[in-house]
Amino acid sequence: MEYTILRVDLSKDKIWEEKVGEKVIKKYLGGRGLGVKILYEETEAGIDPFGEENRLIFMTGYATGTAVPLSGRFHVITKSPLTGGIGDSNCGGQFGPMLRFAGYEGIVVQGIADNPVYLYIEDGHAELRDASHLWGKGTWSTEDTLREELGKDINIVSIGPAGENKVMMAAIINDKHRAAGRTGVGAVMGSKKLKAIVVRKGKRKPEVHDEAKLKEAVENVRRIVRESPVTGEALPTYGTAVLVNIINETGGFPTRNFKTGVFEKANEISGEKIAETYLVRKKACWGCIVACGRVTKVETPPYQVDGEGPEYETAWSLGAMCGISDLAAVIKAHNLCDDLGMDPISFGSTVACAMELYENGKIPEEKLGGLKLEWGNPQTVVELAWRTAFRDGFGDEIAMGAKRLAEKYGMPDLAMHVKGLELPAYDPRAYKGHGLGYATSNRGGCHLRAYMIAPEVLGIPEKLDPLTPEGKAQWVKIFQDLFCIVDSMVVCKFITFAVGAEELLSVTNPITGWDWNVDEFMKAGERIYNLERLYINREGFDGKDDTLPKRLLEEPMPEGAAKGHVVELDKMLEEFYRIRGWVNGKPTEEKLRELDIP
Ligand code: SF4
Repeated sequence: MEYTILRVDLSKDKIWEEKVGEKVIKKYLGGRGLGVKILYEETEAGIDPFGEENRLIFMTGYATGTAVPLSGRFHVITKSPLTGGIGDSNCGGQFGPMLRFAGYEGIVVQGIADNPVYLYIEDGHAELRDASHLWGKGTWSTEDTLREELGKDINIVSIGPAGENKVMMAAIINDKHRAAGRTGVGAVMGSKKLKAIVVRKGKRKPEVHDEAKLKEAVENVRRIVRESPVTGEALPTYGTAVLVNIINETGGFPTRNFKTGVFEKANEISGEKIAETYLVRKKACWGCIVACGRVTKVETPPYQVDGEGPEYETAWSLGAMCGISDLAAVIKAHNLCDDLGMDPISFGSTVACAMELYENGKIPEEKLGGLKLEWGNPQTVVELAWRTAFRDGFGDEIAMGAKRLAEKYGMPDLAMHVKGLELPAYDPRAYKGHGLGYATSNRGGCHLRAYMIAPEVLGIPEKLDPLTPEGKAQWVKIFQDLFCIVDSMVVCKFITFAVGAEELLSVTNPITGWDWNVDEFMKAGERIYNLERLYINREGFDGKDDTLPKRLLEEPMPEGAAKGHVVELDKMLEEFYRIRGWVNGKPTEEKLRELDIP
């Protein structure tokens, strides 16, 4: 097995190819794993995320674009400008498979272009082209313009004004609505003056060692995915927003900047409500049999839009987190984030932080340029999306992210973040293991490093009591290692609602020609998680950063199913470090030797 990686130095206007051999692939798999290896080895500690030396890495894995269901994704890895630690984000759409079909498993971009450019790739050939005419455009108009110029048979990832203006939460967008959203990867792309990457559909077939065995394994996985109540029914019927009512009822739907875990109008922004009102049809990423995407349309003023969403996370971040229940406004703000190229989780969370700062009298009226920063005001969120992407007025302050904003106004505890990354849509006072997952996540406040909601709420693979911290550390480690595999092979995480390591291995061996057992497979995931940890340790993060916002540790949940609960983090953390072989948030020499890293 061999990967072909496209290397691009924008400062030197130079493009070349590099091969990655079997030995490295066996250690780091691809995607997220190979990306962090390259970032760790090729960059020094303390580099400027916006400097020439930072790498912006687009990576697929051995499963991308094969017959494996839900394999239409790719991963982006870089040093995050938002957190100063590892920046990485996974994205659906079509781009991952298209990149492989065009000749490459990954792209590593370094340097900074003199003027805006886009990278054009066709049949194993790549070139840089002028993008001056695209600079300033939203991602939707960028895609439309490129399709007019180059024809329909192409796929595009691009940044919008948020990326160009180095907004700390800027995203990279594929197919207008799929986002590598988190950790500010779009701001790094903007700092490099790389507006877009265009891939023309090619004919190269991803390498598969044993087609017949893969076919058999794929049939089994497809059957399990179809039969699962989550991937076979809930997600196709209601999209990810099916979670709104479930999470609200279990008392962990963060409302008004995590003041409570119960939103009184949750149903108004739920998947069920979307299906009744604005849903046009469902939509799938490449090769996906689940189709959790929602195509939606709002026809009535003032929030008309023909677009997609919301997802569970955006229904929350642009809705409950800011006290908003106007579904049309949430859909509008969601689509603005796609078009402007911005992570709606970090954006909505930073707006909510600003609303609470305002409530506490910290933000003077004259700063707001006429905006009403009170809870539940939908116009404010929609207007702030524009102002943030263009760093206009108070939008320039939202563009910093919640941590910097709350520090600036003297109330740092009001920023609901871990390691500088804003938390997503689950209040861990209601799901203790999920809280440990947040605290120990390498990229910061994130639900996708260890999705403990699966066992703590959905009972997958078995039901755990969400309100006890007992026995959660081992589960968090398993999820963290498994998700490293999923992000590195690369498939959609939603596949894990239906299958586990065994089934993922059943497709891995026929593709790669390896003869791995589950332990060897999980060891690769553990290696990747530890290398990420080494990367953030080198950037100054350690045990002091494996924590949660004070509110979640000290303020008991005021109502709902988790009433009276806080997160008992210390006990879980101690057990977690012991299981991981870490001391003070750092892998020991012994652990690193065992995993054969770096
Ligand atoms: S389950 Fe949803 S996000 Fe995952 S690949 Fe399918 S459509 Fe995309």
